[in-house]
Amino acid sequence: MQHNWSRHLRYTLASLAGTTLAGLYLGYPLYGLISGLGAYMLWNLYQIHRLAQWLAAPNDTTEAPQSIGIWGILFEKLHKLNQNHLQTLDRLRARIDRIQESTNAMRDGVIMTNARGTMEWWNGSAEYLLGFRRNTDQGQYIFNLIRTPAFRSYFDAKNYHEPLEIHSPSRPHIHLQIQISLFGNDDRLIVAKDVTRLHQLEQMRRDFVSNVSHEMRTPLTVISGYLETLADNAGDLPAKWQRAINTMGTQSSRMEALITDLILLSRIETSEHTQSNTPTDIDCLVRQICQDARTLSGKKQHEITFEASGAHFLKGDEYQLRSAFSNLIFNAVKYTPAKGQVSVFWSTNSEGGHLSVKDSGSGIDEIHLPRLTERFYRADPSRHKDTGGTGLGLAIVKHALINHDGSLEIRSQLGKGSEFTCHFPADRLIEGPEK
Ligand code: ADP
Repeated sequence: MQHNWSRHLRYTLASLAGTTLAGLYLGYPLYGLISGLGAYMLWNLYQIHRLAQWLAAPNDTTEAPQSIGIWGILFEKLHKLNQNHLQTLDRLRARIDRIQESTNAMRDGVIMTNARGTMEWWNGSAEYLLGFRRNTDQGQYIFNLIRTPAFRSYFDAKNYHEPLEIHSPSRPHIHLQIQISLFGNDDRLIVAKDVTRLHQLEQMRRDFVSNVSHEMRTPLTVISGYLETLADNAGDLPAKWQRAINTMGTQSSRMEALITDLILLSRIETSEHTQSNTPTDIDCLVRQICQDARTLSGKKQHEITFEASGAHFLKGDEYQLRSAFSNLIFNAVKYTPAKGQVSVFWSTNSEGGHLSVKDSGSGIDEIHLPRLTERFYRADPSRHKDTGGTGLGLAIVKHALINHDGSLEIRSQLGKGSEFTCHFPADRLIEGPEK
């Protein structure tokens, strides 16, 4: 380039010298130089005009103008750059087409929005699952098309660890699982998965458990009733019959407790996100449960204390809250040796309300903690025979808390006692019921 430029400079100077010499020959050297410079300027202006015309051409593929000297080199360079640019564009377009083709082939709906929820792109499955239309919905707010309030809260909360389940806005029989990922400049990639089949299976399982429990309840009540009558009149029977009747009585009570818990769990599970906003007086509720726990402790004489601070009222379903708290407090009594301590605290802060149940009991090995809220999971199966537990208590607690947008935190160490804490969000707390 440097070499071409110096050659061009040499040619230009030589031409100017030529016109000056021609002027000298005619007796006007200055006019010769001026006319040489003028011609050079006109030529440059003409080349600039051609360049401007080429750059303004609407079609990128228009051939670059041909020229000589430095302008020829410039046009050729620009032409090459343009060609490279066009090739890169073609490659990128092909890649985008391929990505779009593959995402269109996906069975899950995929949607791209910006941070405010303006729809930028979506695949074919999103059109089917969510009812979006390619021509009219581009640039729309996604909240105008998916109007479920839970979706808006999920989108804004930016906490995408757990997916959200909603009904499809265009096909209500379709159950969708929504998962959002953040990318770029706070943009969102939304994936909608059709989980209708899974949902139906889950519903069938719940219905089955609930129906079986209800069906078993009546015959069991009859059996227990007769066993009680037999036990009342067992005085005349031989000792081995008395033992048999007592054992049958104990086992039928266990089964009754199991069926009661199964019915309660399926009720709590099916009542989805509780809509009940009844203010529940936590202070009063927990005091009553602690009183029942003292009766349960009986001769074991546990020291059961309760302390509360902050707002006492929680919006929710009192029945479910009672079940959750009593399961935790009764467990603390069951798994703590005689004369042990059970301390219950209620406190509030900017994050919400917290009910913690702490005991000085046997504790739980940390390997069991992640699975403790599963149905029938027991940390120490040999121990549950003495406690008469059903194995459903913590599953009931977990589901009752989910229904109140809450969560359960478990801290425990073998031999050092346990602490179970229920966390509730701040928007469920109220100072007192409205009069
Ligand atoms: P269960 O009816 O057997 O008590 P839960 O679901 O209430 O069933 O509890 C599950 C298991 O968790 C229990 O079997 C027990 O091993 C353990 N567990 C629950 N609470 C405590 C506690 N406070 N201290 C020690 N272990 C506990």
